[in-house]
Amino acid sequence: MDKKIAVVGMGQGGMVAAIKLARAGAQVTVFERYLEGKVSYPWRDDITASVFEDCGLPFPSEDVYVQKANWLFVSPDEKGALRVPQFPPLVEISPNRQKLTEYFVNLAKDAGANIRYGENIEKLVIENERVVGIETKNGIENYDLVIDATGMYSKLREQLPEKYCVQKTPSNLDTMFAYRAFFKKNEGAETFFSDVSNTMILRHMDSDGIGWCNLNEEGNVDVLLCNISRPLTDEEIEERIADLRAMNPILSDEKLFDRKVPLSVRAGIATPVADGYVALGDSAFMTIPIMGSGIESGMHGASIFADYVIENDVQDFTAENMWGFYVKYFKDYGAGFALLDIVRRHALRFNSKYINWALSGKFVTDDTLKFIMLKKDDERRPKYKFGMFSAIIWKLIFYPSFMCTILRMAGEGIHALSVATHIPKKYSFKNMGKWSKKYNKLIEKCEAKAAKRAK
Ligand SMILES: Cc1cc2nc3c(=O)[nH]c(=O)nc-3n(C[C@H](O)[C@H](O)[C@H](O)COP(=O)(O)OP(=O)(O)OC[C@H]3O[C@@H](n4cnc5c(N)ncnc54)[C@H](O)[C@@H]3O)c2cc1C
Repeated sequence: MDKKIAVVGMGQGGMVAAIKLARAGAQVTVFERYLEGKVSYPWRDDITASVFEDCGLPFPSEDVYVQKANWLFVSPDEKGALRVPQFPPLVEISPNRQKLTEYFVNLAKDAGANIRYGENIEKLVIENERVVGIETKNGIENYDLVIDATGMYSKLREQLPEKYCVQKTPSNLDTMFAYRAFFKKNEGAETFFSDVSNTMILRHMDSDGIGWCNLNEEGNVDVLLCNISRPLTDEEIEERIADLRAMNPILSDEKLFDRKVPLSVRAGIATPVADGYVALGDSAFMTIPIMGSGIESGMHGASIFADYVIENDVQDFTAENMWGFYVKYFKDYGAGFALLDIVRRHALRFNSKYINWALSGKFVTDDTLKFIMLKKDDERRPKYKFGMFSAIIWKLIFYPSFMCTILRMAGEGIHALSVATHIPKKYSFKNMGKWSKKYNKLIEKCEAKAAKRAK
């Protein structure tokens, strides 16, 4: 392939596409607004290790990642908790985000891609309703394809002609507004459960988000607070940190640094393609909507895109010629994420009393979770006990209001899954118009219903 491709944004979505397309012979240039060494976040996040193999990439060296820590889910009243079973070593890992970026950059350079740091690309060049390039600090540069990997609030996506039906901006209700801070650990203090380093409180202080307080590999305390629909105020942050401190004695008041960041918690965009343009990663809302995890799913989405282009020998990057990649992405991931999007809209608004009950040990136990999540050959998996699951069903039957809530959520989620699996196989403007209207309406309707029930 001898095409000129601009990748705007050095996140993992953009970089996986850059590496694979450059390896296939394309002339790839990556534009990143930040300077070298300043890209991405100064912390670790969690992913499944197999994503590298799935994307045909070598496993990163040991200095990039550590084993994912063990997690405890705590109820909103902070009285009940469930241990999340840990998978066998290195099935899930926590890469250092900045080292992960370096790993991608090295692979992209080895594949022949050109990397340009410190270039903020804010304008597409559009001729006859086709994207033909970008405006750089050197002036207009022409490309056969512009890959938009600039994130959920992409300024490039907003400029596309209406006819492609590409959603311009996410709604606030599709965003999790996070505050993340790192503190020194109080010497000698132990975590909430002394054998678990990461503690996440669901609906922390009755918010529609979570709060976590984790002891990290570096011996510091990693705090995350979040909220759907609007950023937390400074007073709310103070209040919620004080609550975490009262519960978790490791948290000192010596702050090292903090950052306010939005996360996309919305199911995939209805359509990410226009002639000469494709959005990948968070730009196409390719996150797992429950938690906003988008490293792995963005890598998968970008890999599916690059493989599709290479396997189908796409030379003319029209929306129609690229669309097949998104149909495959939806089949493998996107449709399931539509279901999770609906689950998230309901679950974060559950009355706290249900979550308190579910995590109190009266509904499921650590052993039930281990039995469900661990593989049969894992020696930590408990033996099946007669009545393990029928007891759960009986408990649900005797708690009808909780059961109705779960059933409603499941029903709406399955409906969303069914709509999403019917993504049009063939691209036409008429199909896109109908599909994007139907799919977006479904999400808006579920959001409205979940919000109404929460009142
Ligand atoms: C607090 C927090 C915790 C998270 N935890 C997890 C987790 O545990 N697991 C997980 O999988 N995901 C997690 N995520 C989500 C994850 O960070 C994103 O989903 C993922 O990074 C998206 O990748 P991306 O490649 O689409 O974009 P990004 O990683 O957002 O990269 C976009 C890049 O584009 C650059 N850019 C933006 N605009 C321009 C422009 N105009 N010109 C040039 N360059 C530009 C940016 O500087 C950036 O480098 C977390 C996010 C946050 C904020």
